[in-house]
Amino acid sequence: MPNHAPGQLSPRHRVDAHVHIMTQRRVRGGIKWVRPVAPDYYNLSLDVTTEELLAHLREEGVEAFFNFFYPLKPGESEEINKWHQEFAAACPQAIPFASLHPGDENKAEIIKKALERQQFVGFKFHPYIQGFSILDDRMTRVFEEFQERGCPVVIHTGFSEFYRQPSMVEDTRQLLRRYPRLHLVVSHMLYPDLPLECWPALLDEYPHLYLDATNTLYYCQPGTPDGESLQKLIVAYSFRLVFGSDFPMGTLYPTGKLHDIAARLCPDQDSLDNLMWRTACRIVGKDLFGELDGGEGHGLTTAQ
Ligand SMILES: [Zn+2]
Repeated sequence: MPNHAPGQLSPRHRVDAHVHIMTQRRVRGGIKWVRPVAPDYYNLSLDVTTEELLAHLREEGVEAFFNFFYPLKPGESEEINKWHQEFAAACPQAIPFASLHPGDENKAEIIKKALERQQFVGFKFHPYIQGFSILDDRMTRVFEEFQERGCPVVIHTGFSEFYRQPSMVEDTRQLLRRYPRLHLVVSHMLYPDLPLECWPALLDEYPHLYLDATNTLYYCQPGTPDGESLQKLIVAYSFRLVFGSDFPMGTLYPTGKLHDIAARLCPDQDSLDNLMWRTACRIVGKDLFGELDGGEGHGLTTAQ
């Protein structure tokens, strides 16, 4: 088990809801890309193997993780989903999310195959890196299908300045209006493009909306200008928030540093357990540890 500061709360389980274990070529590209803004990653070899990545998560006490691997251009989704399916089949801790590209010709087929035959639990998109708008006409049928199926859809949002792209705030609001029953996980919480104070109203309006605090946790740790706002949000909505590290292309490495920030942000055991594993279980509808019935009364049923 990892070492954590004495006197600090410790979650009963750890699910990392934002991990990118991909082909070695893509992992290498990701680490290289993140190093200038996350110097900790100079300490992770560009030649790191899949086994070594998994060993790191294990050392940090991570019992399960959402894994994301998305295509960069049309036509490569099937090959990527196939690699991902085979990886996840050999790694019981992985909870795999498929992906596709708006430019793919056979999107309906990719979705059907991924969710019905390849054991993917949902889909993940990165509109900035994949180069599309979530309101793109080519995605209309795709989101309709996801809404009908009730599968979770994780979308990168936020850090628009870093990506030198327009903010996704209005597009995300519009997506929610169009698909109000979509099980949407807003990765990075549109930070810092949308003030954290705006989330309670949206979470109340859309009961299937969830927030992934990946990277946001780092920028809003206790003592930062937004630290208190994030703490307030956690106090009231931890049952809609998940923890993630973006490993191996996140902010801090080893990722246990992020676990510690989460523990310092949460005021009590219940909110920490929600953030670190309970909400993640509910998003994918899996009672991973057979413990969802206890706790704060936000049971599995609300995520169905
Ligand atoms: Zn990511």
